[in-house]
Amino acid sequence: MIATDTPLEAEAERLLKLLMNVACDPHGRTWNLETCREIAPLTLEINRLKREKNAVILAHSYVEPEIIYGVADFRGDSYYLSLQAKKSQAAVIVFAGVVFMAETAKILSPAATVVVPDRGSGCSLADSITGEDVRQLKALYPGSPVVCYINSTAEVKAESDVCVTSGNVYDIVANLPSRRILFVPDRLMAENVRAEMKRRGVDKDIISSDGTCLVHDEFTAAQIAEARAQFPGLKVVAHPECTPEVAALADFVGSTGAMMKYVKTSSAPYYLMLTECGLVGRLEVEAPEKNFIGGCRLCPYMKLNSLEKIRDALQAPRPDQIVTLDEGLRQKAQHCIDRMFELAPQD
Ligand code: SF4
Repeated sequence: MIATDTPLEAEAERLLKLLMNVACDPHGRTWNLETCREIAPLTLEINRLKREKNAVILAHSYVEPEIIYGVADFRGDSYYLSLQAKKSQAAVIVFAGVVFMAETAKILSPAATVVVPDRGSGCSLADSITGEDVRQLKALYPGSPVVCYINSTAEVKAESDVCVTSGNVYDIVANLPSRRILFVPDRLMAENVRAEMKRRGVDKDIISSDGTCLVHDEFTAAQIAEARAQFPGLKVVAHPECTPEVAALADFVGSTGAMMKYVKTSSAPYYLMLTECGLVGRLEVEAPEKNFIGGCRLCPYMKLNSLEKIRDALQAPRPDQIVTLDEGLRQKAQHCIDRMFELAPQD
């Protein structure tokens, strides 16, 4: 048993205060003092290494709760985290998320050493299309601007005219002067954009590629109907990577940041969150009075992150953990992201 006045015990108690309400845990763990004592040596070591190396940790809301609350300096969606990367003065950025996000951090913060805990943390959307595919699409529709969702590789961003996030996609597409828009890589988001343009009375011809998110494309209208029958007063909160049928049935559709804000500021007896489970874990920490019912799915790529891998990437990153980009490609990709910052309000 560890004495109560040791730094380890103090760290375990700090972690417990943060994590005690997390019921939606990817490993089915119960967060009690014992569980927190097990991870406390690692969180202490990582936080010490951060100071020693002048490093920051950016954590996406879908990674495990002990990363988000134990060691991350910033937590949120890819747009928020890309803003933090842009502002960062740190020598080292550890991106606990997936590889395309770490590439975005490197694009925006080229002087920093950007590391990923696990090089295998891909993304079914980002990996569905290459730069060459985008060049072929542009050849088919010359003169039409390419809009890429931020969930895309640096190579795809470098071939695109403007980047968008789930929070700003509708406004940016609506305001682009061209009627025809080439939209990559998310087919379902493109369908949602078509529906929203129609609703706004904006005439656009949106040609999309065929990627989908393996988490969000699984939610169904039947699942919503069943949940509503079982839980009267339920609010359904969905991400725009879901199908248009699901989005049309939801009470709110928005980015993960907007989904969190909606839940925190609304009152309903129950919420069904149609997104990755990690967001429910965050809400259990930050809005413990809310009730969440099933429907959650895990992203296998996000779950490749772990405290051990973060510690190793900070201590002595292996070459495969360090993100490197050709400078010409990085500048082209940065132009695409800068266009988004010009066209979308930054909060
Ligand atoms: S949740 Fe979907 S979009 Fe996000 S990283 Fe996983 S596969 Fe990609």
